[in-house]
Amino acid sequence: MIEINNITKLYGQQRALDGVSFSIARGEIVGLLGPNGAGKSTLMKILTCFIPPTEGDATVCGHSIYDDPLGVRRCIGYLPEQNPLYTDMYVREYLRFAAGLCGVKAPAARADEMIELTGLTPEANKKIGQLSKGYRQRVGLAQALIHDPEVLILDEPTTGLDPNQLEFVRQLIREEGQGKAVLLSTHVMQEVEAMCSRTIIINHGRIVADDPLNQLTAGQLTEKFHKLTN
Ligand code: ADP
Repeated sequence: MIEINNITKLYGQQRALDGVSFSIARGEIVGLLGPNGAGKSTLMKILTCFIPPTEGDATVCGHSIYDDPLGVRRCIGYLPEQNPLYTDMYVREYLRFAAGLCGVKAPAARADEMIELTGLTPEANKKIGQLSKGYRQRVGLAQALIHDPEVLILDEPTTGLDPNQLEFVRQLIREEGQGKAVLLSTHVMQEVEAMCSRTIIINHGRIVADDPLNQLTAGQLTEKFHKLTN
């Protein structure tokens, strides 16, 4: 569902991605691991058509990022790192708005469904700006899932959450990720162990490992990560 072919991205002289290739099939939840500055967000921004690559190409659900960026975006649910929500909007109002933008049929009913699914019912009539980090993250996930996309791209979805929120959000991603292709970035090893079926390690813009997770324990993965990224 996601095909990435030899992607390179230069920011001026800075090589943020250097010949990255991999593919992700339906049903996979892939953890993209890497130290800060490795290129994780850049790759996600390219896949979601926010920025173009310098070289290489990619398709999402068969749509090219060059020829059909709208087609790409339609089949992706994206949670950016700085989950940019309209803080002056009410939760329910925002999700109805998001559903409308995505062209969902019956946006109000779909917004209510997502509120229930993401455990936002007690917060639904609050302004987004009044919510805790964990609940804001749930709103971001509800928005990413609202059009039932085939692909989910989540940039550090659980950063800054307390343990209860963390478990809830992980469970939600595991459940909602079934039958989709999911790419999530993190630098937390336990995150990968808890959610992913495969892990890709990226360092200085290059893929340095790509393993099915059932072949590695979290300890082995941690060791491998340090060896490959130091
Ligand atoms: P990660 O998400 O893994 O922390 P990023 O993709 O954000 O990494 O960044 C990869 C590299 O590209 C870093 O060295 C970062 O400083 C650089 N970079 C990211 N965005 C820009 C930009 N808009 N302009 C210049 N350099 C950038």
